[in-house]
Amino acid sequence: MSNDNLMFTATEHGQSMHAKVKAFIETHIEPIEAQFWEECHKKNPDGNWENWEWPEAYENLRKQAREEGLWNLFLPDDTLGAGLSVTDYAPIAELTGRSLLAPHVFNCNAPDSGNMELLWRYGTQEQQDKWLTPLLEGETRSVFCMTEPDVASSDATNMQATAMVDGDEIVINGSKWWSSGLGDPAVDVLIVMAYTADESADRHHQHSMVLVPVNTPGVNIKRMLKVFGDYDAPHGHGEISFENVRVPVSHFIGGPGKGFEIAQGRLGPGRIHHCMRCIGAAEKSLELAVKRGMSRTAFGKPLLQLGGNFERISEARIKIDQARLLTLYAAQKMDAQGTKKALTEISAIKVVAPTVLQEVVDMAIQIHGGMGVCQDTMLPGFYAQARVLRLADGPDEVHKTMIAKLELKRQGFSRSAKSDKA
Ligand SMILES: Cc1cc2nc3c(=O)[nH]c(=O)nc-3n(C[C@H](O)[C@H](O)[C@H](O)COP(=O)(O)OP(=O)(O)OC[C@H]3O[C@@H](n4cnc5c(N)ncnc54)[C@H](O)[C@@H]3O)c2cc1C
Repeated sequence: MSNDNLMFTATEHGQSMHAKVKAFIETHIEPIEAQFWEECHKKNPDGNWENWEWPEAYENLRKQAREEGLWNLFLPDDTLGAGLSVTDYAPIAELTGRSLLAPHVFNCNAPDSGNMELLWRYGTQEQQDKWLTPLLEGETRSVFCMTEPDVASSDATNMQATAMVDGDEIVINGSKWWSSGLGDPAVDVLIVMAYTADESADRHHQHSMVLVPVNTPGVNIKRMLKVFGDYDAPHGHGEISFENVRVPVSHFIGGPGKGFEIAQGRLGPGRIHHCMRCIGAAEKSLELAVKRGMSRTAFGKPLLQLGGNFERISEARIKIDQARLLTLYAAQKMDAQGTKKALTEISAIKVVAPTVLQEVVDMAIQIHGGMGVCQDTMLPGFYAQARVLRLADGPDEVHKTMIAKLELKRQGFSRSAKSDKA
């Protein structure tokens, strides 16, 4: 595994955690991962999503990871989390990205990690006691509901779901989909982003985030969505409707109209975590490609030594290392100057990392031949991850537009940047 972060040396604590996570993954996760997902598919047959469940190994591994102090590694708080900076966490998240199970084992999986960080940063004490503590303990799971089926949600101001104040309650109406993690049997809370009309505010201060317990009357899970024909059970991605759902006004996060401000804070770290995991998945894919390509022969030579395959391996190495450097650069800027000062770098890596993963996995699949698209390797899972991440948390085009606007602004063309609504 290439992890020579020469320019970005991790602290001693970061290096020690990295070594422990690496040993845990190699000893306890890698040997059982293929069998784990096979059992998962057996336990969660199609069409039965109300009763989805994790295999027994899931809780056992999580318990063991927690006992070894490998828990909530993403959270910079040194009491509630591992106390790692973004730069320290980057190579650790990369390690976990080599596996589709490891992020769950260390309580570092999306969307829970982003939701926990959001509650840690913006939640009231009461909200933290009720929802953050059990999430940090790994007892419950959470969902982030922003995207809607009826509007182009890459422009979040299109959102139609409403969260209106009525006395001391918030009334929520509308539909959401692609609500990730909704199938998990431990889900107990949804963070719903919705429109709260306020004529005195601009269009970026008319949306709120509201905590909605999943069993509140009026919350209806309509169906689970498949990704390339797979339900991703028991985590899953759901479509959900809200019909006159009532919760106390104390369930606003940060107050009414603060949705966009908070989303920017939530999505920054969440996005870079996804990118770090993409780089780990790309490394793993490259390793699989080399192993397969050197152990199988055709036309009298190892597959890798045939027509252009060496070049494909070298291109993969170059792309992965470029993506890693850009990710570490973004991480370091976030640590030094905060998320809001690192928007260009976060958007840049959000475009680069999933694209690199998609290209590297595609190459690895090609080297594997038919084996590359079946359940015998993690490549199909990595491919779905890469393709999905070019849409989720903002499609590539939206991030590129953002980078261009920031660049124009940086060069003094702020009016032209503002006039482009996209
Ligand atoms: C597996 C998966 C998990 C997800 N998890 C979550 C989740 O947990 N919570 C949640 O709220 N959402 C989630 N999403 C939703 C995801 O964030 C949205 O799909 C994404 O934001 C795009 O919104 P949309 O699907 O409405 O596409 P649209 O807004 O309809 O956009 C479609 C396409 O239009 C083009 N486009 C849009 N804007 C521009 C532009 N400015 N310039 C050029 N072209 C443009 C792009 O090609 C884009 O892909 C998930 C999605 C997937 C697939």
